[in-house]
Amino acid sequence: MKLKIAIQKSGRLNEDSVRILKECGIDLSTGLNKLRSEAYNFPLEVLFLRDDDIPQYVEDGVADAGIVGENIVYEMNKKIKVVEKLGFGKCRLSIAVPKNTEYKSAADLKGKKIATSYPLILGNYLKKQKVRSKIETVSGSVEIAPSVGLADAICDLVSSGSTLFANGLKEAEVIFKSEAVLVSCEKLEKEKAAILKKLVFRMKAVKRSRHSKYVLLNAPNNKLDTICKILPGMKSPTILPLVEKGWSSVHSVIDEEKFWEIIEQLKENGAQGILVVPIEKMVL
Ligand code: ATP
Ligand code: ZN
Repeated sequence: MKLKIAIQKSGRLNEDSVRILKECGIDLSTGLNKLRSEAYNFPLEVLFLRDDDIPQYVEDGVADAGIVGENIVYEMNKKIKVVEKLGFGKCRLSIAVPKNTEYKSAADLKGKKIATSYPLILGNYLKKQKVRSKIETVSGSVEIAPSVGLADAICDLVSSGSTLFANGLKEAEVIFKSEAVLVSCEKLEKEKAAILKKLVFRMKAVKRSRHSKYVLLNAPNNKLDTICKILPGMKSPTILPLVEKGWSSVHSVIDEEKFWEIIEQLKENGAQGILVVPIEKMVL
């Protein structure tokens, strides 16, 4: 038995979706068929689809699982389960208005026409804000809607904001934050559920390792207490004596985000020969 997983055929999520499977130790055959691929060292079959179609395929059970942006999951509103956030494909769904429009709060959208490919998420947001606007649903090139006179504002995905800027728009309101997630069919047969569980276990290990670095350093013994407090580690740091008297080698795992701050503190406290090494997998 194989678990069928749907991923984006081409586009922003394709490469990272293939990569996370690869980092989970799953090798896909690169056969002639571009729509389907099989893993030869894990019970997995991969279907390559348009991202918008993935929730429906998973709801229908044509695919057992999928990798898709949360924006699509919530907009499509299918009966599927979000199993795990995957940490890539990060973007935000924002309302943007022409650069020279004054914008203070959502109330300024009252009576305005907003073009979007996300009528459901936008509609829910406006309802919550108790603002009545007209939603104009379009399927692409949303950002040109104001300049061609189709709408007063837009609601679209943003990552850097450069597309908005190029179209004379400014971001007014972030209404939804999104990243790629692993989704699954609500009811999976036992064997498939077990394969999914294995996959999730591996994905968690890969995800965790991305934020962490392994640090090795030398420290004078009289500074070990302070240094161990700076380095929390997974449990507690490992300390090994150096041949040179009065010195030890300290090993630990640190969070990527705190990296520079921690390194500075370590140096101030007498640490020397600091090595920082990437971690490939991390299992707790
Ligand atoms: P498809 O042909 O599969 O329908 P698409 O054109 O709808 O592709 P892409 O532009 O490849 O989709 O985006 C896929 C997903 O990538 C989005 O749904 C979103 O979750 C994520 N994403 C990340 N950053 C951005 C961004 N700046 N703009 C749009 N989508 C982004
Ligand atoms: Zn799409």
